[in-house]
Amino acid sequence: MNNNNALEQFMCSFCGNNYSRPNVLLGLDNSIICENCIELYYDIINIGKEEEIEINDLTPIEIYQELNKFVIGQDKAKKMLSVAVVNHLKRVKHKLDVEKANVLLIGPTGSGKTLLAKNLAKILKLPFAIVDATVYTEAGYVGEDVENILLRLLQNANYDKGLAEKGIVFIDEIDKLARKGENVSITRDVSGEGVQNSLLKIIEGNVINIPPQGGRKHPYQEYITFDTTNVLFICAGAFDGLEKTKITKTIGFHKKDQVIEESICDNLIKYGIIPELLGRLPNVIQMDLLTEKELKEILLLPDNGIIAQYQKLLLVDNVKLKFDEEAIRRIAYMAYNTQGGARSLKRILEDIMIDIMFESSNNQENYDYIITKETIEDHLNYQKIKI
Ligand code: ADP
Repeated sequence: MNNNNALEQFMCSFCGNNYSRPNVLLGLDNSIICENCIELYYDIINIGKEEEIEINDLTPIEIYQELNKFVIGQDKAKKMLSVAVVNHLKRVKHKLDVEKANVLLIGPTGSGKTLLAKNLAKILKLPFAIVDATVYTEAGYVGEDVENILLRLLQNANYDKGLAEKGIVFIDEIDKLARKGENVSITRDVSGEGVQNSLLKIIEGNVINIPPQGGRKHPYQEYITFDTTNVLFICAGAFDGLEKTKITKTIGFHKKDQVIEESICDNLIKYGIIPELLGRLPNVIQMDLLTEKELKEILLLPDNGIIAQYQKLLLVDNVKLKFDEEAIRRIAYMAYNTQGGARSLKRILEDIMIDIMFESSNNQENYDYIITKETIEDHLNYQKIKI
């Protein structure tokens, strides 16, 4: 392009004013738009988008009933979470000046923490991101910056920032960031306390700069600004051994020790969660260890139950998979005793099903495959597994 071209005047098809390059964009059909109009119409389009994002008007009872379809047991957690989420939505919708309702879910592995959060996001039709707290490090250390958590949310919202800024982030394994007593290295953030500190600013609600490509922040990089004021953070962890945190107190002159139950928050701080982070997670919800009866129900859930999944897979090979009552009871009993919650159910079934699935792909005809207590015991004997 020579210099004369740069001085050539173009009339904007929208506002009618004349501009020279590079302040205009030329369309394929000789239409022309100037930079002022680009800015103006960009804003108009985005205002429209903001309004399109409707915030669900569900009640806690409706959310609870929906959760009941997918999550067995955990009644108290489902109720508390439904209320916390509705309060969060009220705060966002009516721009209320009330505390952000972030959540801390405490519960053994395989008790349904992730399942609860995932279904909550589905019910609310909000973008959702699951991240593992252990991959993040404090700025300056080798590892990922916590800002990348927001990038994940943005990606899951198809880069619709307005929607992502109302999404839900699930941070798993938060207990692994516990401060580890006095023995903290100055060169390596082994304790996780630094990450807890870095999380504060994103969890409490701030405008955060995130690197568009992920990775480390770089001084010359252009950032995306992301407002976390309306993002709901659900942190979760097993916090093994938490309930054992008790104090012994000497009463009066009698040197008699008495064990006194402390409040859950005191215990969490003792466990190594910094008080500042705990202060930003006002809804602390404790999940229960799933009972044997509940584990049985999880096996039998009609749509997304563990057995239903294998049945769907085998039906492709013309095999109708069935479990008799005793077999179901045996699997639930085994899973309960391994203390791995529903994850143990999956492991046990995977182990039993592997041979059946291996052989079923050769199958030509329709047939029923019934798993009995004996099938399971034979398999365990063969594998020399003792439960
Ligand atoms: P956690 O996050 O507590 O370790 P998950 O929510 O990831 O456990 O559970 C793993 C899987 O086990 C889930 O995908 C689901 O299939 C099943 N599961 C766990 N808890 C429940 C529950 N309470 N009700 C139904 N299914 C469950």
